[in-house]
Amino acid sequence: MSVKIIVGAQWGDEGKSKMVDYFARNADVVVKFQGGDNAGHTVINSAGSFKLQIIPCGVFKSGCLCFCGTGMVINPEKLINELADIEAKSVSVENVFISSKATILMPYHIELDKNSEGANAVGSTKRGIGFAYADKTRRLSLRFEDLLDLGYCAARLDEILPVINAELKMAGGKQFSKANLMQSLGIWARKLENRIVEPVKFINDQIKENKKIVFEGQLGVMRDIDHGIFPFVTASNPIASYAAASSGFSHKKIDKIIGVMEAFSSLAGRGPLATEMPESVSEKLKATSSEKAGDEFGARTGRARRIGWLDLAVIKYAAQINGFDELALTKIDKLDSLEEIKVCVGYKLNGEEIDYMPSAREQLKVEPIYEIMQGWMTSTSKITQIKDLPVDAKKYIELIEKVVGVPVKYVGVGPGRSDIAT
Ligand code: GDP
Repeated sequence: MSVKIIVGAQWGDEGKSKMVDYFARNADVVVKFQGGDNAGHTVINSAGSFKLQIIPCGVFKSGCLCFCGTGMVINPEKLINELADIEAKSVSVENVFISSKATILMPYHIELDKNSEGANAVGSTKRGIGFAYADKTRRLSLRFEDLLDLGYCAARLDEILPVINAELKMAGGKQFSKANLMQSLGIWARKLENRIVEPVKFINDQIKENKKIVFEGQLGVMRDIDHGIFPFVTASNPIASYAAASSGFSHKKIDKIIGVMEAFSSLAGRGPLATEMPESVSEKLKATSSEKAGDEFGARTGRARRIGWLDLAVIKYAAQINGFDELALTKIDKLDSLEEIKVCVGYKLNGEEIDYMPSAREQLKVEPIYEIMQGWMTSTSKITQIKDLPVDAKKYIELIEKVVGVPVKYVGVGPGRSDIAT
């Protein structure tokens, strides 16, 4: 039995896709368990360059099953385009499956998102994700299984569309006609019906057959709808237990949970960032050579990415919620040119040291407790073994392990897929 879950330990953008790629090399199944096309990554391999937002990266491993899970909200148009793009470069997509219970992200969700002041205020990516989840919660959404019965879709739209159009009217958005939506649903049904499978049997069968399964989370715990920096959060739970909860298997079947963290803090858009650093320092991080190699610091969402010192209060919190067995520490190379590095090991609130993660509102007021470390001032980018890292980089890692209580087993030393020291 091998069920691995890979999740973000911060605010997203930790470098998870690289780690998922790493584990997917030996996987039989890769599952995305939450989110939609609001995050994603570029995969460059011998077949070409691919932008994956919905399809798990296991698609490039021959024979690997790729599963878009029940916890996702999926824009069928985007999924169909992604499939076509991959196929056009002669990579087989026959192993891509969709949970019958996954939520369909409809065109009106995007229109609602674009016209919502509330979504603007919390930094929505305008892809309709939050609205699709909201419709799921108020039981007004369509699921992929509904595509197998267009008559049922038509009846559901009779209930759903008046509510949506009334909301769009108030928000100043365009109206949607049932006829047009039914036409789209018909096309999606034709193109996707063979990929729609019952998810609980699918996953549990794979587990029973001892298949190597990798679950891939989107974003990170600080964007979790319940545990994150509410309201600057995503609409789902990017934490390990949600992989089991949403997929419909027992959490007792999980073998390993890997938390991915970057060597500093970064946050796209608004929200508290207790260890935010002055621009004079963050510019140094941004200016590393690897930046030129494609680390865009939030360009994907079009929101400026704010940078801070590593915050171990956050990583401890992430470990507590997720139960990490191992940590993957990425982007250590970005600290290569810093003479001095600060690490937050806890918070004071109103002058008192605290041992819990305060609310987002209180996070604006915390005073980080820093340890000052010496920088290593040498390039780590060619290093392949953790034991060969500079002494001060190893001290940095030891501090993380000591404060968080979880071993660092992988260290990212560059943006390339294979820039991982172990
Ligand atoms: P995700 O949102 O957690 O899946 O993040 P991605 O895997 O898309 O990574 C975010 C960015 O960090 C990408 O531009 C990666 O190329 C870059 N990245 C990942 N790991 C490293 C690393 O170890 N060093 C450097 N310099 N960049 C990295």
